[in-house]
Amino acid sequence: MSFKSNTCTGQNGPLTSYQNIKEARDAANYQNRYSRFNFKLEPYQCNKCGYFHLGRADRNTHNERSTCLDSSGHYKDKYPTEADARRRADIIKEEKGVTLYVYKCSNCGMWHLTHTRW
Ligand SMILES: [Zn+2]
Ligand SMILES: [Zn+2]
Repeated sequence: MSFKSNTCTGQNGPLTSYQNIKEARDAANYQNRYSRFNFKLEPYQCNKCGYFHLGRADRNTHNERSTCLDSSGHYKDKYPTEADARRRADIIKEEKGVTLYVYKCSNCGMWHLTHTRW
């Protein structure tokens, strides 16, 4: 069963949440078949609420919470590939006008974003 999230909102109001990946995938397939848009939807598991939402496939950067800390003591997001990290950096630049750099972490072996160019 899908339901409206009361913790997570998108540009058009509360996000629709799915209890498992199969439901989310079915919903994505259905919407992709009838969509008028030029992008595909893809399910992802939400860091915040733990349920599944649908997001634009071209914006899915496969990020997850890592166990690495940033300079202010917060957990950094990690990206499995350099391309994913770069895509997120591009989205942040477009939305917030902030330039971020990507680097491969020697601690976890994944990719992170940073404000500082190494
Ligand atoms: Zn959520
Ligand atoms: Zn790391």
